[in-house]
Amino acid sequence: ATGDERAAKIPRYVRINTSCWSTEEAVETFIARGYSLDGPFAHSKGFARDEHIPDLLLFSPDIQLSDDPLYTAGKLILQDKASCFPAYILSPPDDDNGVVIDATAAPGNKTSHLSALMQNKGTLYAFERDKRRFATLQMMLAKARCKNVQPVNADFLTVSPDDPKYNSVTHILLDPSCSGSGIVNRLDHLLESESESMDDRETRLNKLADFQLMMIKHAMKFPSVKRIVYSTCSIHAAENEHVVRDALQSEECLSGRFDLASPGDVLPAWKRRGIPEEMNNPADAASLVRCSPGEDATNGFFVSLFVRQISTAEAEN
Ligand code: SAM
Repeated sequence: ATGDERAAKIPRYVRINTSCWSTEEAVETFIARGYSLDGPFAHSKGFARDEHIPDLLLFSPDIQLSDDPLYTAGKLILQDKASCFPAYILSPPDDDNGVVIDATAAPGNKTSHLSALMQNKGTLYAFERDKRRFATLQMMLAKARCKNVQPVNADFLTVSPDDPKYNSVTHILLDPSCSGSGIVNRLDHLLESESESMDDRETRLNKLADFQLMMIKHAMKFPSVKRIVYSTCSIHAAENEHVVRDALQSEECLSGRFDLASPGDVLPAWKRRGIPEEMNNPADAASLVRCSPGEDATNGFFVSLFVRQISTAEAEN
């Protein structure tokens, strides 16, 4: 199937911005407009609630929402299902003392998702190194009415884990630049060039993987961090399983006592997992989530969750 054919089978995913209203209110509003819960492909006004992500609705791929007042008011966020996984899997705290980092934030869909899951409480530091993308991020955060976010125009790798400001960060979301090879439903997407030689591609992917690994290792240095989500919209093992495999063997991981979360803690109802042959320990693949662009009605995507292990003595304290 071509990218366009695959895109046609993907419903229009709409995340309800629970910083503005509830999903129940949104469902009632659409029903009052003549929509019915018959599923996204039943007819042009059919829709459904997603079975994995609580605040996600599925509409017909033909629905036009970009001029809808609900969208312009920030109450609806147009976000692919797979890209809702990272914030949900990170499961950030939702109390006044929560401190969370989104290390690579622009344009900001995952930031506003984290902010909503935190119930707009605590503090969410959102880093973005690119100046123009940072401006987009600020606009998106204002539109989504995120009040607990502190956007910072900085390179995450230059942020000191010893800075007292970040002492109590417990959750980090890492969704760094990647090849984007999983994206199928954006018309503006530049598909990976078919004319690129295998050697050039390998060099490009290796460079991305080195950077992605560096980001994970940096996140592991934050003294109080307990959970780190690493995600990409790539389908290549080089940027996914291999990066996780190398992170697991790093000094930062071993000294920080990080390990992959158990499969039951990582979207257990989702069937498609990592590729066992690409891991040192094939059993680890069950802890990894993959989305296949041809088969899961989403973009191609990858999510992993590192958790800090605590000893029995610590657990008893
Ligand atoms: N999480 C975002 C969302 O859901 O809207 C998408 C993030 S995008 C895949 C990666 C972003 O990270 C880009 O905007 C890029 O400029 C930024 N970035 C890359 N390296 C960075 C770094 N070292 N520090 C901060 N931002 C970085």
